[in-house]
This record gives sequence, C-alpha cells and structure tokens, in this order.
Amino acid sequence: MECGCPVCNGLAVTDRVCPECGETMEDGGMVEDYYGPYSPYDDMDLYEQPEFWEMADEAPCVHLFTCPKCGYDERVGFRSVVM
Ligand SMILES: [Zn+2]
Ligand SMILES: [Zn+2]
Repeated sequence: MECGCPVCNGLAVTDRVCPECGETMEDGGMVEDYYGPYSPYDDMDLYEQPEFWEMADEAPCVHLFTCPKCGYDERVGFRSVVM
C-alpha cells in the first residue's frame, strides 16, 4: 500500500480561515525547506482529523497557507494516509 499526504493527493479539502481577518486561506503547497533557520515546528499546527491519524509515526507533510487579503501565513502539518 502507498502512503501519502491527503492534501497533496487531493483527498482532503482544506478550508482554513485566517485568524487575522477571516478570509479563506490558500494552500501554497508543500514546504520543502522547513528545516530552516527557525525551529521548524514553532508556528506549526497539526491538522488533527481523526481519520488521518492511522500513520501517526510518519513525519507530517508541511504545507504553507497564506491569506490573500492580509498576508498572514502559517505552516500546517498533515499526516500521511494510506492511499
Ligand atoms: Zn502534502
Ligand atoms: Zn488575513
């Protein structure tokens, strides 16, 4: 069986709302370089949907969400699921 990120594979719809202005945020795709100069998980939330927790040992796929209105951005980690 294959495992993968539900968002990268189009299995999950993400409708995050900007905490600053309430606009619907856009998924900017995977963050390749989240091992950057800052602690990678400091500003990251895990997207905790129970059905996505079966592969809890897998490292999350990190997506960058940005608000088109005010420019707020945040990183969200998604657990891999069995395809
Ligand atoms: Zn992904
Ligand atoms: Zn905003």
